[in-house]
Formats: sequence, C-alpha cells, structure tokens
Amino acid sequence: MYTIQPLKNEYVFIKKSSARFLFADQCKILTQWRKENNCLAEINAQSLQVTLKRIDLAFKAFYRRLATTEKPGFPRFKSLSRYPGWGYKTHGDGWRLFTGEGNKHGKLRLSTVGMISMRGKARTLGEAKTAEILHKSSKWYISVTLECKPKRTSGTKAVGFDWGLQKFLVLHDSQGATKQVDNPRHLKSLLPQLKKLQQSVSKKMNKSSNNRKKAVKKLAKLHTKIANRRKDFHHQEAAKIVKENGLIGAEILSVKSMTKKGGVKKRGLNREILSTAPTQFYQLLKSKAEEAGAIWVDIPTRKVKPSQTCYQCGIQKKKSLFERWHTCDCGASCDRDENAARVILNWALQMASGQELAEMGSRRGFAVLNHETPAIPLG
Ligand SMILES: [Zn+2]
Repeated sequence: MYTIQPLKNEYVFIKKSSARFLFADQCKILTQWRKENNCLAEINAQSLQVTLKRIDLAFKAFYRRLATTEKPGFPRFKSLSRYPGWGYKTHGDGWRLFTGEGNKHGKLRLSTVGMISMRGKARTLGEAKTAEILHKSSKWYISVTLECKPKRTSGTKAVGFDWGLQKFLVLHDSQGATKQVDNPRHLKSLLPQLKKLQQSVSKKMNKSSNNRKKAVKKLAKLHTKIANRRKDFHHQEAAKIVKENGLIGAEILSVKSMTKKGGVKKRGLNREILSTAPTQFYQLLKSKAEEAGAIWVDIPTRKVKPSQTCYQCGIQKKKSLFERWHTCDCGASCDRDENAARVILNWALQMASGQELAEMGSRRGFAVLNHETPAIPLG
C-alpha cells in the first residue's frame, strides 16, 4: 500500500506497511462508528455507504489518472456549500416513493425528514430501485432510477453520423438521405444572458458579500436551466434516430479529439454551452438503441479517419479544419460533414456481421441488405 504526499504539485509515492483501507473495510469501521456516535446513527446506514462509495470512486479515478500521464487532481474535500447530496441503495430502506396518478408528481418519504411533496414525471414506468438526493442551485431534487421495460422499437434503416459544433449532427442513412440537426436556437439565445451573469459574478470581488452570493445563485440557476433543456433536446434527437434506424454507427468519443476538432474557434462560452455534452448524447443514444434492440457499431476514429477519407473510393487525404467541402479525384463531391457521416455508415455496414443483418432482414426487410458498400481501407 502506498500513501501519497503532495509535493510542489507533484505526487510522490511513499511505500508503507501492508495496511490497506478498502471500501469494505471502511464500511465495517462505519458500523462501529455508528454504535459510538449518535449523529451518524441517525442517518440511514445505506446512505452513509453510498457516500463512502463515492469517495472510493474518487480515489480509484485518482489512482487511475496517476498511472497514466493524465493530470492526477487529488480528490477534493467537499465543504457544505459544495456537497451535492446523498443517495439510497434500496427502495424502502430510508426512502419510499408514492407516485401520483400516471406516475406524475406524488410524495416522497425520507426517514428522519418526513413526507415531502414532489414534482415531476418519469419518462417510462417502472419499479423504483435507487435514489439520489441532489442539492443544486439552492433547490432540492431527487433522481430515481427505475427498472423498466420500455417498449421501444428500432427502425429498418442504417445510419452513420458526424457531430460538430456548428451543426450538432449530420446524418447519412442507407437509403441515401442526408439530414442535419442544428444546435438548438433556445440554447444559443441564452448565451448573452449567461455572459452577462458571469461578468456580474466576476465583478463582485468580495467572496463573502451577499450581492456576490446572489449573483452566483442566479448564474447557477441559468446553468441548470441550460443543462435541462439540452438534456431534453438530446433525449428527443436520440429517440428520433433509434425510431428510424436499426443499425447505428457512431464515433467512439474522446474528449481530446473533440476539443481538437473545433480548433481555436471553439474556445470560450460557445464551447461550454453547446459542446460539453456529446458524452451525454452518446450515452442516451446508445442506451435507447439497446432498449430497442438496434445494432450499434463503434467507429474507431483514428483508424477510420472519417473526415480524411473519401466515402466513395476510400482514399485518405488530409484536410485542414477550414476545408468545408470534400472533393476527390474519383469524382466525389459533397459537404465535409456529409462525407464523414457516409464514411461512418460504410464502416458500420462492414463491421456489422452479415449474419446479424440477414437476421434483421428476414424479420422486417432490412434495407441495408441491398445497399452497395463502397470499399474502405481496413489498414
Ligand atoms: Zn474518392
């Protein structure tokens, strides 16, 4: 076992005895502490374990980053103002949900707190499993995980898509149609307001002043609003894609390549507001595709190089960020993003095994079977 001492922003490993405190050991100690300490005894035991688990995860991530060349970032102590909330592991242990008609609104009972009215609606019906209480922008939220069997069905086309900052998505499907999804206007329209609030916070230098606190609160509120709207937008777009397609090809996300992609232009607020959530969209889309039984193909960006490859002949040629049009000696000529989406689709079609496609085909006339797949270099 090692302990770590911060030393001039670097972490030094000091080898120690074989004493190790793992999550399980800490849980055992917690049980002991709860017997001796009334404060702890009053709190739900599972909730305390959830908090321990979070610390465990934070340190695991820290050790993982240390092992790689990433900036380690020592787990941060969460003061009361930064403490986001707590969780519950089992429905009925410390918390109980009483949903209203049609799973809308209802009441929540928390042990030692009491009965609380709640507002909101589950996207799909299901059985409550775990819950997280969140304190965000001076409001309280509960996030409940439901086990459900949504009746989602996938479409019969195959699709590949490319994402960017100017256009959120450019999709190309096996029937030859290209579609694009713009970044939503309602997010863009909030940019000036966000900028104003951020300036207002940075002008108020005195960290303990009430005015600053008020400004921080306002800013946090707007951030939450933007995040909620963006999530809604992601849910809707992901649902649309799955509804129309049975085979989805998507680039494996790496934050590094995302930030590189937009270059200098992407810096600042725009980046923050419009592009911080591709991971969220990717996860939502993937889980919806799974629910619907669609075939999902991850595209290894470095190998496939969607933006540098010609969709028609497969020849790779480097393009600068500012070249927005794809032209090739083979005669191919289309928008840069459309080309990328087509390359992704081609790769997805090649990767999905013939058997899977044939099965889908026999089930509901999978359009892809008749599609001519242009060559793609596999090297
Ligand atoms: Zn070509």
